[in-house]
Amino acid sequence: ADVARRADELVRLVPDYPLPGVLFRDITPLLADADAFAGVVGTLAAGTTGPVDLVAGMEARGFLLAAPVAAALGSGVVPVRKAGKLPAPTASQSYALEYGEATIEIHPATVPAGARVLVVDDVLATGGTAAATVELLRGCGAEVVGLAFLVEIAGLGGRDLLPGLAIDTVLTVD
Ligand code: IMP
Repeated sequence: ADVARRADELVRLVPDYPLPGVLFRDITPLLADADAFAGVVGTLAAGTTGPVDLVAGMEARGFLLAAPVAAALGSGVVPVRKAGKLPAPTASQSYALEYGEATIEIHPATVPAGARVLVVDDVLATGGTAAATVELLRGCGAEVVGLAFLVEIAGLGGRDLLPGLAIDTVLTVD
């Protein structure tokens, strides 16, 4: 509860970014606060039960949370990247944005079949990014054991795209 309260104080609201009418949640003040950052990483790592082989984090802010969560859990880390950034053979997944489409990729050779994977990102908004990540990991034969987010924007309904999955969030906003 303390971690959530501190996160609420430190996540900055930026109106009209990146587009007019969008209220952007900027996590950089929280990342820069040592105690708040440690608390968030601990909370994200504590949400899952059972062993976690890999933590998958989405480019780019997801990397900042997935890597320390993986280190806390003693797991490996899998970067989920925007299309065209990974050098070796990739698996790709496209998903709809409000206007247009996005594609994300992983190196499937780093995700063994049967691996237990936790997905970590900064913000759950519409859920498209997280759902595409789950698809990529399942395509490798991995088991997604849960998802953990710093902020969930509940009003956007992201959970609806993640049926049957365990979802932990430090801070839930409308
Ligand atoms: P979704 O696919 O609509 O759920 O959007 C989630 C992705 O967009 C995540 O990777 C977030 O990093 C990013 N995102 C969406 N809204 C925000 C925000 O308000 N602050 C920071 N990142 C956001």
